[in-house]
Parts: sequence; C-alpha cells; structure tokens
Amino acid sequence: FCPEAIPILDAGRLPTGVILILKDVTSRMQQDKLKRGVISTVSHQLKTPLTSLRLAIYLLLEEKAGPLTSKQVELLVAARDESDRLHSILSNLLDLSRIESGKVRMEFRPVAPHGMILEQVDSFRNTAKNRGITLKTELSDDLPEVLADQAQIGHVFANLLSNAIKYTSPGGEVTISAEADEDSVCFSVSDTGRGIPAQYLDRIFEQFFRIDAQEGETGEGLGLSIAKEIVEAHGGTIRVKSEEGRGSIFTFCLKRADRTLNSTLSH
Ligand code: ADP
Repeated sequence: FCPEAIPILDAGRLPTGVILILKDVTSRMQQDKLKRGVISTVSHQLKTPLTSLRLAIYLLLEEKAGPLTSKQVELLVAARDESDRLHSILSNLLDLSRIESGKVRMEFRPVAPHGMILEQVDSFRNTAKNRGITLKTELSDDLPEVLADQAQIGHVFANLLSNAIKYTSPGGEVTISAEADEDSVCFSVSDTGRGIPAQYLDRIFEQFFRIDAQEGETGEGLGLSIAKEIVEAHGGTIRVKSEEGRGSIFTFCLKRADRTLNSTLSH
C-alpha cells in the first residue's frame, strides 16, 4: 500500500484532522517487476551478438580484412557510432536492472566529500571547458564524511554533471555544492541551462523519459533513473528544482558516517 496524508486545517489554518488515503499499488508493482524482467532478459540476450557485431566493425575499420574505400570507411564509422550507442544503452540497462534487483553489492565506507567532489571536477574540467562552461564548487570547509560506495556515487555525479553541461549553453555555469545538516550531507549540481518545464518535473527520474532533444543531442533517458536507484540503494534521496529558461538544481542527500555509525552501534 502507498499511504498519503492530507491535513485538514480550520479557518485559522490550524490542523484539526487528517485524511489518510491508502492506495493499493500491488498491480503497479507487479507490472514494474514484469517490465524489469523483460528489460533485463532482452538486454542480456542482445549483449553477446552486439559484442560480435562491434568486434567485426572494429576489425573492418582497422583494415584487417583488406583495404577500404573512403565510402566504406564512412559507412563503417556510422555503423561503429551507432553500435557504440547501442552498447552504452545496454550497459546502462544492465546496470539499472542489477541495482534494482539488489545484485550490485554496495561497499559502504566513510567517504570525505571534498576529495570525491574534486575528483569529479577534475574529470569534467575539459568537457566543460570545451563547451565554454564554467565549472565551480561551493563547499564549506567542515563537511563530515558520508557513508557511501564511492564508485557508485561517482556515477551519480557523472550523470548529473554530464547533463548539467549538456543542457547548458556556452557561457553558462555549473556549480557543485555540498552542505551538512544533522543527519546527512546534501550535494547539489546546479546549472544555468535551459531548465525543465514544470509539467515534466515529476517524470524526470523515470526510465527512458526524455524531453524533446535538440539537434545533435544524444541520450537515452536512463542517466537520472540510474542516479536515483543508486542514491536510494544508499538509503538517500534525490530531488530536482528547475525553472524553464533559467536552470536546474539536482540535489541528493547521503547519510553522515558519524551519525550512521553511532546509531548502528547503539542498536
Ligand atoms: P539523457 O540525458 O540521456 O536523455 P537522463 O535520464 O539523464 O537522460 O535525463 C532525462 C531528461 O531530463 C533529459 O533528456 C533532459 O530532457 C532532462 N534533463 C536532465 N538533466 C537536465 C538538466 N540539467 N537541465 C535540463 N534538462 C535536463
């Protein structure tokens, strides 16, 4: 059941009661499970033939089967690019189904936010520079460690940063910030890009959901759903705030290592 609570307020806006709605989501969960099963099976089945196909294309391009005309190179390059794209979609789908089914073993360790963020900034510095985008950080000095699988959270940052850069025009800014509260540290990736229309905000983390892509923009609508699965596997939350034409802020929160370790010890 999925519970929802709506407060009842009197004329002075004081709460006088609450309406509780319980929605039976069994059939939706069954459909989701079926969908996940189909996606996972199809992805596995496609992986092996695609690997052979890519190998053949790469060997042909390296002229291992004889010299090529320029027209043949042109066609093979197009085939290579599309098969690379298909490979990336399949890898993302397989990652997603492995995380959803709990098959990815998360290695939770105390991780210092500064190092983790600076590593991301380093790996995106060139991409941002090539697109004419300023990449900044706003971090307080005394951020506590979070309990995280650093490699997996690296994927979350990479997906958010590559989107922020992709959907922001040259001259714009992308900022990574982090702040701590009592229980968690919240990380934000904000941009001054095109923003997300309000009517799409609650669908943005769905698998395959994309807003009309502009000329030359590639993507498959999986990056944000992968980010959400990873953050939720950490017991964390992810949310978005956005204004069309002004920019977006994606924020995810992870548990502080000091609080989590203390509460684990006291149980
Ligand atoms: P992809 O970028 O591969 O299409 P994602 O799941 O990462 O897939 O994102 C889904 C959609 O959300 C994108 O197609 C894009 O329309 C929108 N989106 C994501 N991040 C941003 C952003 N920072 N600014 C504007 N739109 C975004």
